[in-house]
Amino acid sequence: MLSTVWSKLIHSYYQPETDRNKKNPPVIYSVLQQTKLLELSEKEAVVGCENNGVRLFLEKKIKEIENHFFSVTKKRLKIRFVLIEKKTKKETPLLSYEPTIETRLANAGLSIKYKFENFAVSSTNQVAFAAAQAVVANPGKNYNPLFIYGGVGVGKTHLASAIGRKILENNPKKKVLFCQGDVFINELIESIQEKTTQSFRRKYRRLDVLIIDDVQFIAGKERVQEEFFHTFNSVVSAGGQIILTSDRPPNEIKKLEERLRSRFLGGLTVDIQPPDFELRTAILLIKAKEKGILLDIEAAKIIAEKITDCRALEGTLLTIYANFFVKEKKEKIDLEAVEEFFSTQKKNNQKKITVDDVLKTICSYYNIKLSQLKNNSRLSNFVFPRQVAMYFLREHLKMKQEDIARILKRKDHTTVIHGVEKIRQLLLKNPLIKEEINKITQNLNLST
Ligand code: ADP
Ligand code: MG
Repeated sequence: MLSTVWSKLIHSYYQPETDRNKKNPPVIYSVLQQTKLLELSEKEAVVGCENNGVRLFLEKKIKEIENHFFSVTKKRLKIRFVLIEKKTKKETPLLSYEPTIETRLANAGLSIKYKFENFAVSSTNQVAFAAAQAVVANPGKNYNPLFIYGGVGVGKTHLASAIGRKILENNPKKKVLFCQGDVFINELIESIQEKTTQSFRRKYRRLDVLIIDDVQFIAGKERVQEEFFHTFNSVVSAGGQIILTSDRPPNEIKKLEERLRSRFLGGLTVDIQPPDFELRTAILLIKAKEKGILLDIEAAKIIAEKITDCRALEGTLLTIYANFFVKEKKEKIDLEAVEEFFSTQKKNNQKKITVDDVLKTICSYYNIKLSQLKNNSRLSNFVFPRQVAMYFLREHLKMKQEDIARILKRKDHTTVIHGVEKIRQLLLKNPLIKEEINKITQNLNLST
């Protein structure tokens, strides 16, 4: 009885029979499918949610749902969302040759670190989180592709990986593959050179879930885009799900073929904003717990206030841990430890920064290798970080243009003049770039 009432409400959000023009159901419909009506009285409905992200998402829409409930059932009810533990199947394999979850993740190219359970949700990423949940509920059915975009370190890789993992956990038979955009490109180029495109196609076209992380890398490469277009169509027409991440939305990816752009826009596009203070605090607490580090909430707040970049959060936590937990044998990281850490930091800032520090910090910020920073590739993913490196070496270390060219393996110093000038100009007119440069400066000071 309870389940009938609830399912009637959920389905009233989307009726494909009468709503023929609507290809994709609203996200709220899919999120509601991960809930269960637990109690229903004259005044109140208690609804269980499978995870906290679902609960947070629905709580924001509580008024809307209550009104909707009224229009469907003619009952004025207060809705209360609570968290329910989902029964998870025991992980012990019955037969010894049944692969463990670790093996399955490795086969799918997924990192063991990233799951929904350690993904914190706040207002900056809740829409993307809800969309991810919706894809997990019905992979390959709606929202195809799911396109997640956002700046560096906002959690795109984490979220996309978590979707792949959850789908595998729900159904170990699913063929899931997580692939970095540049790895996809390299594999394709190799397969063309070695004339093994057939096996490349076998690998990619028969998947239930294909995740391409940082898909913007494929822009500007004709043959790669052509192959990817066919891969995309094969996977989707066979009922598979595509998940893409990128540093920008489809219509801002330069040199992307029109037909791919329209495919990318044909599903659901969601963005993740830079993490707010609450989210940064939550991430710190999650990371500390995972590493078995005792961290005071107040201490976490101070770190979250000072460090705005997600990747640097973890690094800072580990540095503080190494300094206080290990060296000074403190039991936990408390306010005192954190304050001491930042004041030493300030003093260290006056210390000399080396070329190595600059290059390492920039590579880790943009998630590229030192060799990619110094090679001949004209990929915008490498060109921009290279220009940032030129800017830092010139502005912070006051190096000569000729020396910068030599370090970055550029043929002549006019490239350096151009690169430095470009960043200077961008700093003047683009607040996002300004923030990026600030974060790198912050990371640079932390790493020395
Ligand atoms: P992106 O792919 O957007 O550059 P990542 O997914 O690599 O970012 O995230 C950078 C780091 O921050 C990772 O260690 C990730 O686990 C962490 N992180 C980002 N967002 C969250 C979140 N919402 N909850 C927990 N950890 C997060
Ligand atoms: Mg990433």
